Amino acid sequence: AALPADARILLTAERKQRRILAIASGKGGVGKSTVAANLAIALARTGLKVGLVDADIYGPSQPKLMDAPGKPEAYNKQLLPVATRHGVPLLSIGQLVEPGKAIAWRGPMAAGALTQLVDAAWGDTELLIMDLPPGTGDVQLTMIQKHRPMGAIIVSTPQDLALIDAARAIDLFGQAGVPVIGLVENMAGYICPHCGALSDPFGSGGAETDAAARGIPFLGRIPLTIAIRTASDAGEPPAAGDGADAEPFRLLAEKVAV
Ligand code: ADP
Repeated sequence: AALPADARILLTAERKQRRILAIASGKGGVGKSTVAANLAIALARTGLKVGLVDADIYGPSQPKLMDAPGKPEAYNKQLLPVATRHGVPLLSIGQLVEPGKAIAWRGPMAAGALTQLVDAAWGDTELLIMDLPPGTGDVQLTMIQKHRPMGAIIVSTPQDLALIDAARAIDLFGQAGVPVIGLVENMAGYICPHCGALSDPFGSGGAETDAAARGIPFLGRIPLTIAIRTASDAGEPPAAGDGADAEPFRLLAEKVAV
């Protein structure tokens, strides 16, 4: 494949120690990918060189969230991260498989595919945000053991069931010896777009109480808003803008800035 114009810079940039921050959840649908994308953008806006690795083999959604549908080029057998207009280059497991094609991944296979994404031509990228598959099975454990993130952030909704699942995710990182940096409560409180009133469809505060009981830092709450959903569907994560929905992600980035 032809070498893109900026690839030489990517490939020759001094390779510093690159760190991986895993974003995990006990189950799907809690907003793990949304948090990963927005945190990556919010961290990039602080001046950090951030890349995004979408390792969610069950539903890789970052190409859509980041509005980067293209396939990565390869050069010298190394993948070149796909530039996005949000300042965060992306590699996704979804770029390596045919869309809509189900693949029965086993732990070592998934970890092997992930290796291609992590060992890509990241150039001077300082931090890789890794969007892990939801759940706490063998696949996740193998991925974590092989790629040894410096830390993990657990995303949960306020419901009890999600919190029980979050507890399993916390255990998983404990088993792998990876520090849990903290817990984020997503979909915490619904802000009515008409009157601005806050209500709690899924309850609120559950994650903070749970984090405190486990001695894990609570990193903050992200409200449930229609704007977050529509912006995400449009490939325009709210953290890229300056509206009210960018604020919780900016605060989160401040807390995890490393
Ligand atoms: P996961 O990665 O945990 O499966 P996603 O990030 O894909 O979850 O989110 C699932 C759905 O919920 C998506 O449609 C997303 O836009 C929506 N969503 C996530 N967080 C919020 C939020 N805070 N407010 C509104 N919608 C949200």
